[in-house]
Amino acid sequence: ATPTAIMVGTGKGAENGVLIKDASHLQMLKDIDTVILDKTGTITKGKPEVTKIRAFTISENDMIRAVASAEQASEHPLAKAIIDYAKEKKIKLENPVRFEAMPGYGVMSVVGNKTYTVGNQKLMEFKRIDISNLANEMEKLEAKGNSVIMVTEDDRLIGYFAIADTVKESSRQAIKELKDRGIDVIMMTGDNKHTAKAIADEVGIGHILAEVLPEHKAKEVEKLKKKGKKVAMVGDGINDAPALAAANVGIAIGTGTDVAIEAADVTLMRGDLLSISDSIQLSYATIRKIK
Ligand code: ADP
Ligand code: MG
Repeated sequence: ATPTAIMVGTGKGAENGVLIKDASHLQMLKDIDTVILDKTGTITKGKPEVTKIRAFTISENDMIRAVASAEQASEHPLAKAIIDYAKEKKIKLENPVRFEAMPGYGVMSVVGNKTYTVGNQKLMEFKRIDISNLANEMEKLEAKGNSVIMVTEDDRLIGYFAIADTVKESSRQAIKELKDRGIDVIMMTGDNKHTAKAIADEVGIGHILAEVLPEHKAKEVEKLKKKGKKVAMVGDGINDAPALAAANVGIAIGTGTDVAIEAADVTLMRGDLLSISDSIQLSYATIRKIK
């Protein structure tokens, strides 16, 4: 690769909102045969909203107050959705006495003199909370793309929040462009299988890795690399950083967290996924000039 061609290539990328850290990654992009996309904030807008609430033992407003208070120290988009919902309803929050984040599961928090756990099915299983009578309605909500977040108060199930995120307008087209290039497109998420499948169906992804714990995301990338795949990982979250670093090319969404951007080789300033295919095209164009 001539330095001039590379310089022109990276310059062209920058003009189109694709920031490439160094020459080797611009060259590598054309050899990518597998693209792994994170779900929340990458395929979807990352601005989930509460779509349904059920409170079994206390009033809905009391549950919203408790859970939004419990989630205040969390940086997770789902926590933000619940807090925003409480704010919209003008519900006053309390500072939790204790807070503990459990990445991939949820949070545990003491608000006033009560202990709340807020999180997914895996968290409830871990706490041995029986949720079998919710299975039916949960599955229906998840099939529509909702994440169902359950709430316990002092180890008793008191209700749930259904929260849904919308896909970015360009995601479906972007994924089609990658597939048309013969690239295997995979969705990887910590969310449950049903919700993951609903979103994957919406954007045309058939290959899903769901319920992947944050610390296992990089391992999934390594597994594919060991099979000889050339892997690009695309993500936006703190959780995605190790996987971005493990990939042949790590691609961060520019609207994502600083940690992800630092770990990545390429940053997509425009946030939409069409830039992935554009950057692969740019790699071909740059390398062709060299030959
Ligand atoms: P992803 O970024 O792929 O959606 P995460 O690993 O961040 O996955 O989260 C996986 C799941 O863990 C979420 O879908 C949710 O069920 C649960 N979870 C994580 N953090 C929280 C939180 N603060 N409140 C409630 N649930 C949470
Ligand atoms: Mg994300």
